[in-house]
Amino acid sequence: MAKVLVFTETTANSVKSVTLEILGKLSGQSIDVVAIGDVPEEGIKALAAHGAENIHKLKGDNLDKYSPEGYANALKGFISSGNYDYVFAGSTALAKDLFPRLSGLLDSGMASEVTNFIMEGDNFNGTRPLFAGKCLAKVTIQGPKPHFVTVRPNALGMPESPSSGAGNVQEASGSAGEIRAAIKEIIKSASEKVDLTEANIIVSGGRAMKNAENFKILNELAEVIGATVGASRAAVDSGYAPHSMQVGQTGKTVAPSLYIACGISGAIQHLAGMRTSKCIVAINTDPDAPIFTKADYGIVGDLFQIVPILTEEFKSFLG
Ligand SMILES: Cc1cc2nc3c(=O)[nH]c(=O)nc-3n(C[C@H](O)[C@H](O)[C@H](O)COP(=O)(O)OP(=O)(O)OC[C@H]3O[C@@H](n4cnc5c(N)ncnc54)[C@H](O)[C@@H]3O)c2cc1C
Repeated sequence: MAKVLVFTETTANSVKSVTLEILGKLSGQSIDVVAIGDVPEEGIKALAAHGAENIHKLKGDNLDKYSPEGYANALKGFISSGNYDYVFAGSTALAKDLFPRLSGLLDSGMASEVTNFIMEGDNFNGTRPLFAGKCLAKVTIQGPKPHFVTVRPNALGMPESPSSGAGNVQEASGSAGEIRAAIKEIIKSASEKVDLTEANIIVSGGRAMKNAENFKILNELAEVIGATVGASRAAVDSGYAPHSMQVGQTGKTVAPSLYIACGISGAIQHLAGMRTSKCIVAINTDPDAPIFTKADYGIVGDLFQIVPILTEEFKSFLG
């Protein structure tokens, strides 16, 4: 059995769901969780229900705001004192920034963006997509432990019947050390919606949206089905949507249960960011659009007619 630490980020009232996906997959291992700062009560309950034995709240000066150096220094100290075999995190924007730095500080190996893994005894065997998702690589990690792993959100799925853990909450003190590049302010995006990388349903619009105002029809559909709205690079480059909404090779990589592509041709760079979606629906006027080769369901037609119909149908179906 491996001794595993899972780094979690918190949300307004819980923890990021990718943490629970990871805990479910680690069932049978000895699992601690660490967060920087406080963890909401709901989050503590969820972590315990998914197998966390100990939940550490790491606190200290200059840890109130994220900074890559401060977080990495504090976590380095905490991890070094814990004799862990593995340190996991969801492959979020923050962890993509933090974990390579942390594994470098500890001179340890790292597997990033894995979409699946198994633990055989205390050996980690993972899978990660390469070349824009065209092939899958099997990854193991060599060298001194602890080994670091980041897991793509939504890839593992939520465990159906998780085994619970003791969920002992403990406070630990962490030192941010010297912070040379301080983050002065974090400006929240206007959207209160779930982040694209964690969304379970995504409705995306492409160049065919024609302007920013027309995204209103996607927002209306998203509101009804509980989705987050994304965009292709053509839509972003044309100024119809902010870059934070871009899906693809130079945008966000997503793996929702349902991805609805509206007026998106299906260029390889777009597919790179969403091809691992569990169900893909494409709406496009061109029956030969490449997106249809990847779609589970395709509607050949004008999105400006079809999207409002879908919104109305879902409204009456979902009450
Ligand atoms: C290095 C590099 C990185 C890139 N990274 C990304 C990336 O991260 N994400 C990304 O998306 N792209 C990326 N691209 C760009 C990519 O190659 C495509 O240009 C882009 O994805 C096209 O966006 P689109 O499908 O919205 O537009 P188009 O390719 O112009 O497709 C628009 C589609 O809308 C359909 N359409 C038109 N009117 C309607 C209507 N009324 N109803 C329904 N359908 C309609 C058309 O038939 C067409 O298929 C990258 C390119 C490069 C070179």
